[in-house]
Amino acid sequence: SEMDLICTGCGIGIQTEEKEQPGYAPLNSVIEREYPVCQRCYRIKHYSDVAPVTLDNAGFQKILRDIGKRPALVVKVVDLFDFAGSWVKEINRYVGQNPIILVANKADLLPKVTNFEKVEHWLQKEVEKQGVKVADTILISAKKRINIEFVKEAIEERVGNRDVYVVGTANVGKSTLINGLLNLYGQEEGAEITTSRYPGTTLSTIKMDLPGHSGSIIDTPGIMTTHRLTDLVCPKCLRTITPETYINPKTYQLNDKQTLFFGGLCRFDYLAGEKQGFTIYSANQLSVHRTKLENADEIYSKHLGTLLVPPCEKCPDHLRELVPHKITLKSGHPQDIVISGLGWITVRGMHYTTVVVHAPRGVEVHTRRALI
Ligand code: GDP
Repeated sequence: SEMDLICTGCGIGIQTEEKEQPGYAPLNSVIEREYPVCQRCYRIKHYSDVAPVTLDNAGFQKILRDIGKRPALVVKVVDLFDFAGSWVKEINRYVGQNPIILVANKADLLPKVTNFEKVEHWLQKEVEKQGVKVADTILISAKKRINIEFVKEAIEERVGNRDVYVVGTANVGKSTLINGLLNLYGQEEGAEITTSRYPGTTLSTIKMDLPGHSGSIIDTPGIMTTHRLTDLVCPKCLRTITPETYINPKTYQLNDKQTLFFGGLCRFDYLAGEKQGFTIYSANQLSVHRTKLENADEIYSKHLGTLLVPPCEKCPDHLRELVPHKITLKSGHPQDIVISGLGWITVRGMHYTTVVVHAPRGVEVHTRRALI
């Protein structure tokens, strides 16, 4: 190629020839800018629009598998709002014997009254269950720049002369975290990695010097998943289901044979049990409708796309294909019923409870020990 420029936003090689291909940037912009970015990153940054890209999943896998073959320090980022959904199940295979610093991001989304010590304890238990050994667990908000300095300290304590790889599924906040870290090292404005609400922004590894150390810090492209609602809805509806700020939990006292609709994306039927409270943790702007179970089918078919949105007409059809998940909870510990990417419903566990969660085909639904 005529040059070996790399987009500082997403890590892809820049080319000036083919407009429709990844890495395209107009020639004059490449010459003028100190930190060249591809047109796609430019648009994401300045107009918040996204150009669709084709991602090469095999390429991702290779990048990740290579981490385990050399001495490295792994910073694994997960999203607290969708812990299981953002947990990379193959992590042991990817990192080999290398140490892992677990960073639980988006702590700013948990309700104001959250007991973070309890959340940390919860995290450690969940990580144990996954069979993964981590050296540190750190709760942060990359966006609000809360606790990033603890990540920096943990890295410095363990890095030696290794490279640091930041890994995680798409959209957990890896790029935001790295920008925050580099900012702590006094990096100038303008060279930030592109971040966006859309999965798949980082296209290749982006390598940066780790100031004061011989190694580099490397942003890896997020592993794409398809089991989170956030992977499936259209960009506009993604805004509706993504919390912007801390969640205000909503508690509904339900009798059996009552139904809650989360927009038209998910339907929660309380089939059997005593009258009790169900607490919902989802984006504040997502509307929840309550109805009688006997009317639920009719309401869904009449009001989907109008009262019950998302999905909207731009969303893929299969979001309208709801699959039932029958869940029985015995009395005991509080449990969360999690709908990946949408949020969760906490059941306090006072009674024997049977519910049916109807979620779009492919979206992961599971129960867990209550987070909060
Ligand atoms: P990446 O794909 O893992 O690199 O994720 P990005 O850094 O591009 O972030 C994905 C989305 O999550 C963007 O909309 C970010 O603004 C948002 N995000 C990142 N960190 C946080 C955080 O700490 N809190 C919240 N609420 N959002 C965050």
